[in-house]
Amino acid sequence: MHLRRLELQGFKTFAQKTVLEFVPMTAQRRGMTGIVGPNGSGKSNVADAIRWVMGEQSLKLLRSKKSEDVIFSGTEKRSRSGFAEVTMTLVNDDETSELDLQEVVITRRLYRDGQSEYEVNKKASRLTDVALLLAQCGIGQRTYSVIGQGMVDAVLSASPSERKEFFDEAAGLRVFQLKRTQAINKLDATHENVKQADVLLREIEPRLVSLERQVKRLREREGIEEELRRVERLYFGRVWSDLKQRLEVAMGQHASAEAIFAQKNQEALELERELAGMEQAKPVSSDVNDIRAVLDVLREERVSLREQQIRLDARKQVAAVRAEKPWSPLPLSKIIEEIDAMGKAHDELMTLLDAEKLDVEQIRSVAKRLVGKNADLLGRLQRPAPEPEAPKSATDPAVDAEVQKLSDAMDAIAEKIRTTESRLQELNRKEESSRSHLFETQRRLTSLRHDAQSAERRLSETSVEVARIETRRESFYADLRNQAPALETELDVIVVEALKDSSGDPIEKVQGRMQRLRSQLEWIGGIDPATVKEYEETHERFTKLSTQVTDLRQAIGSLETVIAELDQTIKERGDIAFKKLNEAFGFYFKKLFGGGEARLIQLEAEPVLDEEGNVLEEVDENAGPAGIEMQATPPGKRLKSIALLSGGERALTSIALIGAIMATNPSPFVVLDEVDAALDESNSKKFADILDSLAEKTQFVVITHNRATMGTAHVLYGVTMAEDGSSQILSVKLDA
Ligand code: ATP
Repeated sequence: MHLRRLELQGFKTFAQKTVLEFVPMTAQRRGMTGIVGPNGSGKSNVADAIRWVMGEQSLKLLRSKKSEDVIFSGTEKRSRSGFAEVTMTLVNDDETSELDLQEVVITRRLYRDGQSEYEVNKKASRLTDVALLLAQCGIGQRTYSVIGQGMVDAVLSASPSERKEFFDEAAGLRVFQLKRTQAINKLDATHENVKQADVLLREIEPRLVSLERQVKRLREREGIEEELRRVERLYFGRVWSDLKQRLEVAMGQHASAEAIFAQKNQEALELERELAGMEQAKPVSSDVNDIRAVLDVLREERVSLREQQIRLDARKQVAAVRAEKPWSPLPLSKIIEEIDAMGKAHDELMTLLDAEKLDVEQIRSVAKRLVGKNADLLGRLQRPAPEPEAPKSATDPAVDAEVQKLSDAMDAIAEKIRTTESRLQELNRKEESSRSHLFETQRRLTSLRHDAQSAERRLSETSVEVARIETRRESFYADLRNQAPALETELDVIVVEALKDSSGDPIEKVQGRMQRLRSQLEWIGGIDPATVKEYEETHERFTKLSTQVTDLRQAIGSLETVIAELDQTIKERGDIAFKKLNEAFGFYFKKLFGGGEARLIQLEAEPVLDEEGNVLEEVDENAGPAGIEMQATPPGKRLKSIALLSGGERALTSIALIGAIMATNPSPFVVLDEVDAALDESNSKKFADILDSLAEKTQFVVITHNRATMGTAHVLYGVTMAEDGSSQILSVKLDA
């Protein structure tokens, strides 16, 4: 890493744009650039420019009173500048460098209105970025990269703690200390954030607990409401299903009762009509009487015929008996017996003739027997008179013809009687049948009327039942609208659901459960739904904050680890660097003084005490030594305190210290502003030798009036003051 280029514009005496190139001597030797010129020409302003562009904030070190004092203030012949700008170009040619940039270009700009800008490689940056970048480049921002007039002397006369700061930077601890400061600042900020978050968490927590309780009640309420909705569906579903079923049955029964009633009524009406028709029909009995009269005439005719026949038969038999048997007188008892027998036969015949149904054969046989007995008795009682010549034959043809005629007439009338009787029987049968049909119809009508009455009773019973269920349906609707109006449109659905319910709980149990859930809801009371939103927001905020606190605590842990590691690094490196620096200081002191002894002593930190000796502040174990004491004893002297050294001795001691720093912790470049001013010629030579020996590792820019020093430079820049009061640069290249 080396300084390649410096551009100044409007900075102090460099009013116009001025460029200084710093070319390394060889690849191995960084070389030395001398800046020479008369007093007041602006040489030290070059050193100030380098300090300023590296972020220097100390007005004292910049030899100013105000920030804008660095802007060219104008002369009689040249007007002032509006801004000051310095650009420094560094080239990274160190292969071991961790920086992955080939070139680092840093610009600082300041306007008269106080506006200040930093750029790194043309990108706007902050001062801290610049400081860190320079520390990474191994370039101390404040102290020994630009060593001004009397600056090292100031180190000699500084307090041990101020001196420690200078040495820490010289030991390359600056970068770690910067990181440590950053980490500590971050740690403090993180602690502060945790504190604030903790306060917020403590504020939120009671509200969150209260909200949580309310939300829990709300959830509980929601659960009960859900269960209530379920039980309501079941209850109303079941009641509605039952009512519907009962109504259907009742209406079915009513309809069938109505149908039966109508049918019975109709049947009764028809039967009444039929009966009326029967009653108006002509009675059969009038025909029967007519036929009976005919039959009576016929019977009388037949009796008369029979009598004729009997008489004829008697005549015939008498004739036959007379013809066949001899007469003999009969005893009287026999005659009486025969007459008695004839009387009986006669009675028998009369009985047969009076009978409803006439048995012609029997009548004939009884009549024959009577006629025979009559003839027989007559024949035996009468003394046969001398008879005319008896016909050879017993039969008389005229009688026979008459017999025959009578017999035929008898047969004809018997036939008529039979026909008439059968008609009579038929009519009787008819009458009997129509009578019994009438009775039967009357009986059926009575029964039908009875049935119609029963049907009417049943009809009114079913009407009452339907009305009763309809009333219950109305009160069901009223309950439903009152308790669960949303279910009114869902009745068909909840009925199906209720049918699927397998609990088998009686409806009273379901109703009881529904009432219990309602009183639970009443007991819980209403909760503002906005509570949930507030709870969620508060909970989210609380969780976020808790997570933040956890993250912050983790960050605190990591930062503490980083700080501990940095402390460790600073301590280890510091110890090693201090040891080396101490040895080198002794070495250069001896070299410059030709003997004697010089050393640095680390001072232990002590607790801060109040006037009474009470500890106000404990020692920070990690802070390292509190300061650095210097002891220098030139050869042949006993004194140890540097305060007692002569001006020249102090200058030599300063140079021994600069040499020691350069040797132990070589900076890429160092600007030395008239550090050799107080040296005599021989010491100037020694100083020049030391610089020459260090020039392998460090690029020097030396502002000097010293000829010996000028002699070691391979490039010289001459600075002159132009007529208009601005600095001009002249390049004097001494060797290639
Ligand atoms: P010496 O050899 O005496 O140390 P030098 O060459 O180092 O002198 P500087 O200290 O660099 O000179 O320059 C100082 C000069 O710069 C002073 O004359 C001062 O007035 C002038 N100067 C400082 N700031 C400004 C400014 N803002 N505008 C104009 N001139 C300024």
